[in-house]
Amino acid sequence: MGERGIKIVELDVRQLINELNKAYADEWLAYYLYWYLAKIVTGPGYEDMSEFLKKIAKDEEEHAGELADRIIELGGLPIGNPMDLEKNANDKYPKLPTSTDDYDTIINIVTKAEAGAIEVYNKIAAKTMGKDHVTYQIVCHILGEEVQHEEMFEDLKK
Ligand code: FE
Ligand code: FE
Repeated sequence: MGERGIKIVELDVRQLINELNKAYADEWLAYYLYWYLAKIVTGPGYEDMSEFLKKIAKDEEEHAGELADRIIELGGLPIGNPMDLEKNANDKYPKLPTSTDDYDTIINIVTKAEAGAIEVYNKIAAKTMGKDHVTYQIVCHILGEEVQHEEMFEDLKK
């Protein structure tokens, strides 16, 4: 934690850390969800769907890492206990599809999760714009990827 680096943040840093930790929890839930769906998916062309989910899971894990680094830079700590992840997330972990080849439900779950992430990062971007350039930059980068994710999954809809 760098003293001057924190001083230049023109926001309530504790509150900002708290918001970043909520997004951090979202990312781990998304990572687990997509990783899990990639493992269990069946049905025609399941390999493509599995690869696709795996690729996006990797992005979500990177987002968790980027948020963790920024939380630490700001003098905070990322959530340490996995039991606290869902409690602190912006959204509940979704209800899983009852059938492993139910692509429509999988696509709906993922597009809904991505839409939620877009709202969260859009809010943090608006809040940090002009007040905390470093967080703003990180959050805009993540937001850009979430927009891409939503679009990729929407394109799969029949
Ligand atoms: Fe993400
Ligand atoms: Fe995403």
